[in-house]
Amino acid sequence: MLGLMQDRPLLITTIMEYAAHYHRDCEIVTKAVEGGIHRTTYGEVAKRSAKLAHALAKLGIRYGDCISTLAWNTYRHLELYMAVPCMGSVLNTVNPRLFPEQITYILNHSEAKVLFLDITFVAQVEKLADTLSHIEHIVIMTDRAHMPETSLKNVICYEDFIAPEDEDFDWPEFDENTAAGLCYTSGTTGEPKGALYSHRSTVLHTYSTCSKDSLGISKTDVVFPIVPMFHVNAWGTPHAAVMTGSKLVLPGADMTGENFYNLIKDEGCTISLGVPTIWLALLQYVKTLDNEDLTSLPIEHFVIGGAAAAPSLIKDMEETFDANVLHAWGMTETSPLGSVNRPLAKHAHLSDAEKMAFKTKQGRPPYGIEMKIVDDDGNKLPRDGVAFGRLMVRGPWVAKAYFKQPGLNILDEGGYFDTGDVSTLDEDGYMTIVDRSKDVIKSGGEWISSIDLENVALGHPEVGQAAVIGIFHPKWQERPLLIILANPGTSPTKESILDYLNGKIAKWWTPDDVVFIDEMPHTATGKIQKRDLRDMFKDFKFSE
Ligand code: AMP
Repeated sequence: MLGLMQDRPLLITTIMEYAAHYHRDCEIVTKAVEGGIHRTTYGEVAKRSAKLAHALAKLGIRYGDCISTLAWNTYRHLELYMAVPCMGSVLNTVNPRLFPEQITYILNHSEAKVLFLDITFVAQVEKLADTLSHIEHIVIMTDRAHMPETSLKNVICYEDFIAPEDEDFDWPEFDENTAAGLCYTSGTTGEPKGALYSHRSTVLHTYSTCSKDSLGISKTDVVFPIVPMFHVNAWGTPHAAVMTGSKLVLPGADMTGENFYNLIKDEGCTISLGVPTIWLALLQYVKTLDNEDLTSLPIEHFVIGGAAAAPSLIKDMEETFDANVLHAWGMTETSPLGSVNRPLAKHAHLSDAEKMAFKTKQGRPPYGIEMKIVDDDGNKLPRDGVAFGRLMVRGPWVAKAYFKQPGLNILDEGGYFDTGDVSTLDEDGYMTIVDRSKDVIKSGGEWISSIDLENVALGHPEVGQAAVIGIFHPKWQERPLLIILANPGTSPTKESILDYLNGKIAKWWTPDDVVFIDEMPHTATGKIQKRDLRDMFKDFKFSE
């Protein structure tokens, strides 16, 4: 017997229309790409999204067509986030920091017909133009006054494009499983792979991120996603902000600690999100300020994800701003939120040091995400906080296949997706990432976690960034090499680093050598690029 409740489709349109009615006057503040601060409201964004949908329809864009963006976090990008999926088309947000060949690959693979770009990316796209096989129109996201000179063909100015159109659009109703967004993985190996989100997966993910035990975003928040809207939908925050009517603050193209600080202070941000390197930039900037009372800023939560949050970073952020760090884990294939570290009631009595150690865990999955860890043969491993294995996840916002790769099975027999991460799960369900499976150091049949070693090394006062990679060893197969970028104005020695590690890690984990570099390579999403480090040190040999 079926239930007798209404089967209303879970469409992003419902989020936008709800905001247009109930959050009409709530503010969206953008550090404009053209300069200055731009202010608008959800009511205005809904109207402009309707205009945009009309303009796209006139251009010939139909249900199922793909639109790509190379764009920062701005109100115009938010309009695309609404208009494109709500008219039944697919929004493909492309990371402009990828290599040109990868951008070309994605734009051709997605078969996008229209490319929207910020003025900052015009020169970059001019160089690629000849390699793009499907793009018919390019819309530059600015007004007439700021339109750049360009050799690009079929160029349209965003504000001119939407200006003549109607503020109402008869948004279609369709199957909630219709594709809404397309994000490609950063592709550290092979070509980037596309995760194709549906309206249903996006709405369910949004509900989940807003729940109190997850990110807990609500109407009274001022949400500041520094994580880009081209990196897994800024971890779902644009949708969450529109759903809840929280004030939304967007950093535009200005990715400096100074801009982050000014927006947090001037706009009263309560929750901000980003990868560890973002917070290093913010910390570095605020250390240059005199007589600023950082602890009285309204910021309550810093969400750190995308890469492991080291205890030293968590401590520094919490103490500097008198705020709480929420450590979260996820990936492109999981929309991305897969776990958030929130304490249980029983953790209230932990000492400060114990709380800090606890916060380095990546947290518990929200309702909807199921997790298990397995050995190389797929056998389930115990949830004892000690055994570690491949982290497998399933749920309604986890990918079941990659876009246009029908032959590639990415699920096990139970429908779980292999994350490529190695982790533990404890009795309370807290998951701790030990490593990416390809980064773990295999020493004499045992595993050494590069993340654990890096986390300890980062506690050394002169260490700015740390990365550990495995180097071939004739006896042990691999041994750890610790690579360090020192804090500005300091010059730590190998001996002082090894002394510092002594007693904080198992003896056999001690790196066989420590080297210093002037610049740490990063991926397009701001994580340390270990593949480049492995290339740089491919001929490295430990001294006998
Ligand atoms: P991406 O798809 O680019 O978002 O990358 C996803 C990968 O980032 C995951 O599979 C993890 O390896 C890594 N990652 C994300 N969050 C964390 C975290 N909190 N701690 C450690 N690694 C993380």
